[in-house]
Amino acid sequence: MDKDKLGDEEARLAALRRYEIREPGETRPFQRIVDLVQQVIGVPMAAVSLIDADTQLFKATRGLAGITQTARSEAFCNHTIAQTEAFAVSDARLDPRFADNPMVTGSPHIRSYLGVPLTTPDGYNVGSLCAIDDEPRQFDRAQGEIMKKLAEIVVEQFELQQIARQDALTGALTRRGFFAEVEKEFRRASRYDRPSTLVAIDVDHFKSINDRYGHPAGDAVLVSIANACMANMRRSDVFGRLGGEEFALLLPETDAEEAREAAERIRRTIESTIVQVGGIEVRATVSMGAAPRPSSGETAATWLAEADIALYEAKQFGRNRVAVGRARRPVASPAGASDDRPAHLH
Ligand code: GH3
Ligand code: MG
Ligand code: MG
Repeated sequence: MDKDKLGDEEARLAALRRYEIREPGETRPFQRIVDLVQQVIGVPMAAVSLIDADTQLFKATRGLAGITQTARSEAFCNHTIAQTEAFAVSDARLDPRFADNPMVTGSPHIRSYLGVPLTTPDGYNVGSLCAIDDEPRQFDRAQGEIMKKLAEIVVEQFELQQIARQDALTGALTRRGFFAEVEKEFRRASRYDRPSTLVAIDVDHFKSINDRYGHPAGDAVLVSIANACMANMRRSDVFGRLGGEEFALLLPETDAEEAREAAERIRRTIESTIVQVGGIEVRATVSMGAAPRPSSGETAATWLAEADIALYEAKQFGRNRVAVGRARRPVASPAGASDDRPAHLH
């Protein structure tokens, strides 16, 4: 590993951000590895630890009494990420670096520690895999080697989870990755009572584009449409590919009217784009359905369903247009009243 990278804290934090692993997400694979560490090394405690700017976050733990994070200054793992090899402490009470550490003087009473860095393929230590005992002990070289192999599996899992979030053709988030973002944004915007709008996008008559020009031309159109969306969005917006020719945009801090304007801009860009495929010129249009965040008593799934209903109306009313669903009212309106109708076209 490149020694210089050990000291490049900015780049190390960027590597941690790229993985987007600071959110809980899918933790089962990490839990299995932590369980393996516990069994194979024979320790009561083990953890996958991530070192953020000021905080140590545990991705998975065993025996740590539900601790989910600590200050970085208290983290044994913060010493591990400063080196390329395994880091071992045989009796923390006799080590001036750790003797007065609250995790040594109090619960969980750490006495001995063996950590190996979690090193990204491009050479940054984003965290560590560690085995912890509440008794003093010497860890041997073979145990360090086992831990290194397991740490490699942890990093491979980070890589795979990152790949699973991104669609290979268009660079958009995958359905899974996008839904996770919608869940997160629904919680955030509900908690702070902020506006936020979801826009469902579907290519018009895409089947006939495929039929006329072939599947590769269809794929080129999808790439072009994705590019038009990504070029017209803000940094904080989120873009996903939910299906073959279905996309979606999540627009935080954006109300329905602003979302309509953004969607209209994208719609016009796509309408006026000519995609060149093997000497042939292909044009495509999209229909879009925007839905403002439903009230906090609802769910992210409802939000997605409401965007879909608005999209359906855009199709019904002739395609190549934007429909905006109305925010659902918290109080039910009388049967037959138009208030329950989700979408109004313009
Ligand atoms: P509508 O305006 O009602 O949306 O009509 P449509 O033809 O777009 O709708 P439909 O859902 O019937 O057809 C979608 C087609 O998209 C079916 C499938 O052949 C095609 N498709 C799905 N995924 C891909 C893909 O990754 N690449 C290409 N080239 N075509 C795809
Ligand atoms: Mg479709
Ligand atoms: Mg379609």
